[in-house]
Amino acid sequence: MSKVILITGCSSGLGREASIQLSQRGYRVFASMRNLKDKEAVQEEARQRGASLDYVQLDVNDNVSVERAVQAVISKAGRIDVLINNAGYGLTGALETVTMEEIQEQYDTNVFGVIRCVQAVLPCMRKQRSGTIINISSVIALTGGPLSSIYASSKFAVEGLTESLVEELAPFGIRVCLIEPGLVLTRFSEENKKTGTRLPYSDNPYREMMEEQTRLFSQLKSSPAAQSAEEAVAAYIEAVEDTSFRLRFQTNPRGSALARRRFVNPNQGVSLK
Ligand code: NAP
Repeated sequence: MSKVILITGCSSGLGREASIQLSQRGYRVFASMRNLKDKEAVQEEARQRGASLDYVQLDVNDNVSVERAVQAVISKAGRIDVLINNAGYGLTGALETVTMEEIQEQYDTNVFGVIRCVQAVLPCMRKQRSGTIINISSVIALTGGPLSSIYASSKFAVEGLTESLVEELAPFGIRVCLIEPGLVLTRFSEENKKTGTRLPYSDNPYREMMEEQTRLFSQLKSSPAAQSAEEAVAAYIEAVEDTSFRLRFQTNPRGSALARRRFVNPNQGVSLK
């Protein structure tokens, strides 16, 4: 019997690619998205690539939608073997340039969204006495980063949540792990990125830093550090198929080097000046 996988945020990017590649490998994949109108394009691409997906509406910000989606998967497939908490977006801007509403919205999706989905699948996975929960973090949770403190802290929260759940869920046969993608060329850093609006751009003391970051980003985009979703999804597959209880998966060698640095030297990235 093929494993049943539920993935959040499959309208684009890594979620969409992971759905297709996991289906190609024989898994039964429920590709969820908050707007089911986005399904047509995903379905067409999946068809062209010989993949077959089930679709379910799931907005990670909405308790009812999450609960309904999980119940729909259980009633169609009878179980959930893997949950991939992939949905998320990045809020950029210096801390004093983002509004409290923007911060709360970022946490609602990137942190509470993950918690909602984990809570919803746990009764089923506990009953099965098996399951895998894969939370998508970021290399930024290994380093922090200027003009991204809220996004970075949301991913640090996902890391802390995941690490805490490892031992809590192990007695029920449930494995929990993290994927820490590096720069992947998806809608994440373009269309889906949000920027703080607390200060007008003309009166923003961080303008120069922002312009410098935009310049560096455009260089990085065409460097070998930037990956395609097709390539980065190898880490999703590795995490789904892992049997060694590994906690962290990076998508490229640069990410792996950052993780090694972070965990060999706990002060890495902390200025002691
Ligand atoms: P993407 O192309 O922007 O895809 C993000 C997906 O999340 C979209 O399907 C989006 O749906 C969905 N989403 C956002 N809010 C949602 C909500 N409330 N409920 C359900 N779905 C929601 O970006 P991506 O690169 O594939 O990002 C996937 C994950 O990787 C994210 O967690 C991101 O933080 C992480 N990541 C990405 C990078 C990178 O460089 N791309 C690096 C590190 C980590 P809509 O189309 O409806 O907005």
